[in-house]
Amino acid sequence: PLSGRTAVVTGSTSGIGLGIARELAAAGANVVLNSFTDDRADHDLARQLGHEFEVEVRYVQADMSKAVDCRALVDSSGTCDILVNNAGIQHVAPIEEFPPAKWDLVLAINLSSAFHTTAAALPGMRARGWGRIVNVASAHGLTASPYKSAYVAAKHGLVGLTKTTALEVAGQGITANAICPGYVLTPLVEAQIPDQMKAHDMDRETVIREVMLARQPSGQFATVEQIGGTAAFLCSDAAAQITGTTISVDGGWTAL
Ligand code: NAD
Repeated sequence: PLSGRTAVVTGSTSGIGLGIARELAAAGANVVLNSFTDDRADHDLARQLGHEFEVEVRYVQADMSKAVDCRALVDSSGTCDILVNNAGIQHVAPIEEFPPAKWDLVLAINLSSAFHTTAAALPGMRARGWGRIVNVASAHGLTASPYKSAYVAAKHGLVGLTKTTALEVAGQGITANAICPGYVLTPLVEAQIPDQMKAHDMDRETVIREVMLARQPSGQFATVEQIGGTAAFLCSDAAAQITGTTISVDGGWTAL
């Protein structure tokens, strides 16, 4: 259903971004993969995905903390029919100890990058009369946790940007929505488990159940395939009138 469309997915060499890239490629879209690195493995990954799904996949290096890189990424795609703003980082500290430079970096990557890529992508989408913008926010775009001030502020901001974007393009064949995942078992999250086991003196299963998934009523992680499937749905014709809203994939987190 997405054949002939080109999708740009920021921060897509691992985790949720890669999961979204794979589902869009499976639906027939050509894909631009992105991260800030420029390793051989990045280009190999693009080649591998292209073979697997028989679509065009390219890797483009661009640092989403830099405005010029964000705009250049979209420009380099030729056409950007689908824009997925996924790149994001976390930093955990009380507000009064939060390093100001970290605050700026979290805001730049998790929020401002989406402003710049959206600004670069909209003229082409408008000219073609079709476009899909999918912003990967978080349950923390709708609720808060202590010690995650920059992340929570950026993700709430991303939800606000999503709504504004939707209003500015309404009726033009373009939609903008945010996916709000709860805990997803990505390499990033997997890497935190051993530390949490040590810090809480718990085994793996107990840490997952009582620490990590304490706020996720389903007691289960969401998967990158489920986030990817949600993104693909938002790009489908069935979702043409879904715009300016959030879809939670959080096992009930925000229902509490
Ligand atoms: P991840 O660390 O596995 O992936 C992040 C990706 O962003 C990587 O490909 C990384 O290379 C890229 N990236 C980081 N800094 C970048 C930069 N400056 N420029 C370009 N790319 C950059 O993390 P993930 O868990 O897959 O998270 C992806 C998104 O999903 C983030 O926005 C995150 O906030 C959001 N999210 C994750 C979870 C979760 O539980 N994992 C939950 C809710 C929301």
